[in-house]
Amino acid sequence: MTLRVVPLSKTFTVHSSLLFDPKQKAFRKNISIEVDRDTGSITNVYERDDEDDLRLQIHVGDIDLRGAGKCVLPGLVDSHTHVFLHSYTDRPSIEQMRDASALERIIRATSHVRAALLAGFTTYRDLGTEALGNADAQLRDCINRGLVPGPRMFVATDALASNGSYEIRRENKSLSGSGGLIVPRASDPCDGVDGVRAGVRRRVGDGADIIKFYADYRRKVMRFPGPGTSNTSNQSILFPPDDPRRRNPAVPLFGQDEMDAIVREAKLAELPVAAHAGETKAALMAARAGVTTVEHMFEDSNGLLDETLKEMKRQGTIWVPTLATVESAAPQFMEDCLAAVGKAVKIGVRVATGGDTGVIDHGLNARELELFVKAGIPIEEVLEMATVGGWEACGGELTGYRFGWWEKGCRADIIALDADPREDEKALRKVGFVMKDGKVWKRDGRAVDMITVPEFPPSMDN
Ligand SMILES: [Zn+2]
Repeated sequence: MTLRVVPLSKTFTVHSSLLFDPKQKAFRKNISIEVDRDTGSITNVYERDDEDDLRLQIHVGDIDLRGAGKCVLPGLVDSHTHVFLHSYTDRPSIEQMRDASALERIIRATSHVRAALLAGFTTYRDLGTEALGNADAQLRDCINRGLVPGPRMFVATDALASNGSYEIRRENKSLSGSGGLIVPRASDPCDGVDGVRAGVRRRVGDGADIIKFYADYRRKVMRFPGPGTSNTSNQSILFPPDDPRRRNPAVPLFGQDEMDAIVREAKLAELPVAAHAGETKAALMAARAGVTTVEHMFEDSNGLLDETLKEMKRQGTIWVPTLATVESAAPQFMEDCLAAVGKAVKIGVRVATGGDTGVIDHGLNARELELFVKAGIPIEEVLEMATVGGWEACGGELTGYRFGWWEKGCRADIIALDADPREDEKALRKVGFVMKDGKVWKRDGRAVDMITVPEFPPSMDN
């Protein structure tokens, strides 16, 4: 008997019976996707006849994702993550930054990115290492070199913040200003138009894909130190006593001229800009400056929500409301946030889904999408925000890639759920298959062997 070795063809095909198409915001039947084995990009997308299916030939190397209950989606994008943080309910971020070794944080991050990939998230928009410099750029490169499995990462390295803003919260400073407890620097401080331009340039030089800046923060925290700070008591200082929500409000960190300069300088480098804004006041300034995305925007103490949403629509600003973090860290704002997201979608503000994952554990990324459904947004819209919306938040064409929809030239990021998300509200937790860049990482609900171990070469045979 002779064995004939058939060389693998240049392409293989992924067959689906039910597939979500983000560009059409619709579920479609009997779609096949042809993938280039070498480049990991999609070469063809076509619809099969029902008749064809009866005699469909599954060639060696093809992948069959047809079958009752299976639903194929483009790989999902989490548009706001922190790979170097784990759940704040386990440890507050200040303790993770202050007490954990860099090595522990990096080892944890390698588990985080693996968990995210296996949960169907093939792209991460990672917005700041929180006191680990540009380790995110290095982790991104390690993933791209195949050293560790994880999503395609777009990273911010350090976030920009004005001096004395992020993250200053310790009481144990000696009176002379030196000594005492040192909390690692969690941002790249810069001030003034020239200062922020230099800040953007430092980020570009450090390997950033995205420029992130803090448009506002609770910078007056040392006036009323609370339990989250490095203070000596678990008790908040109850002053002023009548409105605990406004005790330490987020206030702008930059003037309009500085925000404008950040965006202008990022444009020169052809990079997108993300603005952290807890309040609508700073979000409005950031939108006017022309940022790509506004993150959070949980609070509207100044009654500027309508004006801000209108400006965001006019400018094409994308909102990433990070609802999963509201749910876990600031539930008192949840109802207002769900209503604001509903309003934004209704008037046509572009929205993308990102959980601020890290505040909740990596791997639970789908929670953000579930909360969007809870806000009353149809699943077809939510899935579009989590794919095409994510690509746009990452910078769209500025990323140098296309991912999140089905078209020749898009990356072959393909996942399959074991349930139909129109019928099962937990379907996004049931990811049975994951492919990124044409490479399979999960099959039949199980991780594919991820670490390449050396094999003895023929030269060692004797
Ligand atoms: Zn964040």
